[in-house]
Amino acid sequence: MGTSHQGIAASDGLFRGPVRRLGSARRERRGTGDAATERQALQQAIAHAVAGVTALMARVDGEAQDILGFQVAMLEDDALSAPALSTIDTGTPAHVAWSAALDGEISGYEASDDDYFRARAADLRDIRDRVLRHLAGGDAAGEATGAVLLGDDIAPTAFLETDWTAGGAIALLRGSATSHVAMLARARGVPMVTGLGELPARTAVLAVDGGRGAVLADPDSAQRAQFDAALEADTRARAREERFRLRPAVRRSGERIDILINVAGVGELDRIDHAACDGIGLMRSEFLFRDGAPLPGEETQYRAYRRFAEWAQGRPVTIRTLDIGGDKPVRGLTPEGESNPFLGLRGVRLTLAREDVFRTQLRALARAAVHGNLKVMLPMVTAPDELARSAALLDACVAELGAQGVACHRPPLGIMVEVPAAAVMPELFRGAAFFSIGSNDLTQYVTASSRDDARVAALNDPSHPAVTALIARVARFGREAGIPVSLCGDMASEPRHLPALLDAGLTSLSVAPARIARLKAAIAEL
Ligand code: PEP
Ligand code: MG
Repeated sequence: MGTSHQGIAASDGLFRGPVRRLGSARRERRGTGDAATERQALQQAIAHAVAGVTALMARVDGEAQDILGFQVAMLEDDALSAPALSTIDTGTPAHVAWSAALDGEISGYEASDDDYFRARAADLRDIRDRVLRHLAGGDAAGEATGAVLLGDDIAPTAFLETDWTAGGAIALLRGSATSHVAMLARARGVPMVTGLGELPARTAVLAVDGGRGAVLADPDSAQRAQFDAALEADTRARAREERFRLRPAVRRSGERIDILINVAGVGELDRIDHAACDGIGLMRSEFLFRDGAPLPGEETQYRAYRRFAEWAQGRPVTIRTLDIGGDKPVRGLTPEGESNPFLGLRGVRLTLAREDVFRTQLRALARAAVHGNLKVMLPMVTAPDELARSAALLDACVAELGAQGVACHRPPLGIMVEVPAAAVMPELFRGAAFFSIGSNDLTQYVTASSRDDARVAALNDPSHPAVTALIARVARFGREAGIPVSLCGDMASEPRHLPALLDAGLTSLSVAPARIARLKAAIAEL
């Protein structure tokens, strides 16, 4: 009988297949003994790696392009190669010097308390191994899978170079659900489980349940039959849901529910049929601000926001101002060494403290608002004064653009309701053009259980009556005051929470694009 193992769910879906182990990329190489030649060898290997990743970029889109762009920027950054080149000058072979320099960087990232930084270690390992392969005189080509890739962690480029057309899955002993690969796997629909810890040494076959975060090692025939039956049922369910994708979401009672989407990057739009949703309910603009990369200026931001506005063809597009801090630090913007970043200088608190950054964003938003039905939303609002000060800044930016003769429009300004202070007393925010309930943060603050700590995951439950009571309260106040209310936390993407949300009187939900069809099907059955 096979053994079952629990990990962390990183990407939905079921797959059973032979195990293919993700090997170590280190290859044998002898140094030439000449520092100048070794220097040149390393510089050439880095140049080849840049060329290889750039070529791969041309074959992918969306987030994948962003991830590879990040790798190219790292490879081209002299600060990364400088320590290795200095070590080469002391007589060390290029591959040893490069490995040592990168291993030092990687362990720094791995030791971080922060999920985000730990996840970036995979990108650095990818960069390290790619250059080592070039130093050893070759690079691995993409392989077809139809297998379960098993290893400690998987590099983003290894994922992108893999041919997934024959199906497949990923099972990682370490890894994180917030890594770049997990994001790619979700976008491609490749089932993935991370954080499995240990698996029996000689595991030959794995049955992966990405949604449950569980795997079955070497299932026997009865277990295989059971898994295959679940897989078949899942495939049938997905096919049935697909029929709902392009239809409006309507309950049996005839009530129409607006289904909008949550997005992070412009590239995601290419994979989404805009006719499948009622607009964009949450664009997390902080993802334009990549950690370690230069801050995007007004023009770059304007072009990005304009693309969202135009893509939606008149449907509403809600762009949230920077919500950095908490679990989304950006070096140079977020404070170092906060004892509790989730309760610190985050979201609108930070942008109000960094008026220069806030103004650049508000100007870009006011300019983009000319090109569609754009709305602006403030994250982490706690006190009415934060809304008033942000509104005054937005007005000032619009006036300034007007005086400069730049086309602009003053977008409606709404707030996220995700801090208990706002959810308990929404009447403090009558000046907001709309409310969008952020159930992810609201749940973590109401239940005092961190949203990114697996040990308290059971407590971090959005269906806790204290959370649903607050949601109902905000929805009721919105109806009475004539302020539109939506919900954009992950709770809206889970069909099991639908009854509570619709009972609370919500008629607008913003969800993960991959969940549109499933939710519309579930709503039709309610
Ligand atoms: C939320 O808190 O529910 C939300 C939608 O915002 P984020 O997940 O980006 O914090
Ligand atoms: Mg939030």
